[in-house]
Amino acid sequence: MSIEKIDTLVVGGGQAGIAMSEHLTANGVPHLVLERHRIAERWRSERWDSLVANGPAWHDRFPGLAFSDVDKETGPDDFRSKEQVADYLVAYAEKIAAPMRCGVEVLKVERNVGRRGFRVETSAGPLEAINVVAATGAFQRPVVPDIVPADTAILQMHSTAYRNPGQLPEGTVMVVGSGSSGTQIAEEILASGRQVYLSIGPHDRPPRAYRARDYCWWLGVLGKWDAAAREVGREHVTIAVSGVDGGHSIDFRRLAAKGLILVGRTQSCANDAISFAGDLAQNIANGDAYLRALLDEADAYLARNGLELPEEPEARTILPDPDCLRSPILSLDLKKAGIATIIWATGFTSDYSWLKADTFDEKGRPRHQRGVSEEQGIYFLGLSWQSRRGSSFIWGVWHDARHIAEQIAIQRKYIEYHDNMSAKSTR
Ligand SMILES: Cc1cc2nc3c(=O)[nH]c(=O)nc-3n(C[C@H](O)[C@H](O)[C@H](O)COP(=O)(O)OP(=O)(O)OC[C@H]3O[C@@H](n4cnc5c(N)ncnc54)[C@H](O)[C@@H]3O)c2cc1C
Repeated sequence: MSIEKIDTLVVGGGQAGIAMSEHLTANGVPHLVLERHRIAERWRSERWDSLVANGPAWHDRFPGLAFSDVDKETGPDDFRSKEQVADYLVAYAEKIAAPMRCGVEVLKVERNVGRRGFRVETSAGPLEAINVVAATGAFQRPVVPDIVPADTAILQMHSTAYRNPGQLPEGTVMVVGSGSSGTQIAEEILASGRQVYLSIGPHDRPPRAYRARDYCWWLGVLGKWDAAAREVGREHVTIAVSGVDGGHSIDFRRLAAKGLILVGRTQSCANDAISFAGDLAQNIANGDAYLRALLDEADAYLARNGLELPEEPEARTILPDPDCLRSPILSLDLKKAGIATIIWATGFTSDYSWLKADTFDEKGRPRHQRGVSEEQGIYFLGLSWQSRRGSSFIWGVWHDARHIAEQIAIQRKYIEYHDNMSAKSTR
């Protein structure tokens, strides 16, 4: 039986797979994208109902298509819903005629023995590929720390399973994690009238907008999306900001004034009591310091470039510390506090169990340089900090995909030379 052969197989049909397809086409590389579900599936079925893009429509997109090209009603400063983001990515895949097969899962990729390329097992049968790009995302497998035993009466879920407050049993909710997911979910549940605790770790807290420019613009002009290396110790520092209701900053003191109870990092649980690190004040102070430093840099940028934008001194206002910050709770009896649900907004890990390649470190993380792995023919795309801070975001992955496509095209030229010379010598 003849087996289907392709040059480059892209695994995953999210934004990374689509961007990869665009650049492979531009570089003349024949390829196929396999997606186990639907295009941009995670935006449709692994996110909560009210999620909107964290960046405005003019920013969180690929260069080749504006959101308003897909939906005329979209203004540049609008924050698109998760469904609209998915629809945009579908429209993009159609626009570039991405060779995409949906509903096909890649089960195993293994190097051929004694010849180039890989044997690929899929849910639709085997195929062979010279190159494989793992575009399966930075946010693959939900991480729930092993802290609260599963056999308590408390409902525990990861943020990927949260949909809306109506889904939760009566009672108080604890949200663990102070990135955009945790803070937005906590804010929504609080607004629904519940008592909510929010466990806060290290975070960056940019202003939603400053001096009439969105923070996405500021991080762009200040070169921060393009920052190439993570600072040691700040690899997992998340950004707390919201695009909900036209977008707003996350101010933990403002949320506490509305009734949110802030606690430090969740550490352990014993005898129905959950303990928090004594780092709440420090985490909040670091978030404030990040905000102030960004405002300083923004002011300096405007002065240096002679740009005039309306001044906004009130952006520096720090509200009074709430009780929960002045006297932090270090231990909480879950039953007495009436906690019925814990939502873990604690991030993700990768899952490359299908990829049998010698390019992972002892923690299963890809060993690579800007997505080019240590094993020839294997590439990664969409990783956090793959080449820069923006790498896992919609616009950032597009630039990383271009680099990988160029690297694949370069390797193809070397192989072409070899094959041509070999053919000549055997003539
Ligand atoms: C809550 C949340 C909010 C976010 N908001 C924003 C935002 O506002 N703006 C922004 O720019 N970024 C945002 N991001 C970051 C990023 O844009 C998204 O996570 C995005 O989904 C990543 O796209 P991706 O293509 O890299 O990965 P994914 O979207 O995860 O796509 C990977 C695809 O691979 C498929 N797949 C996996 N394994 C296989 C296999 N073995 N065979 C075949 N197919 C497979 C999956 O089904 C999936 O569709 C957000 C992330 C999260 C978690």
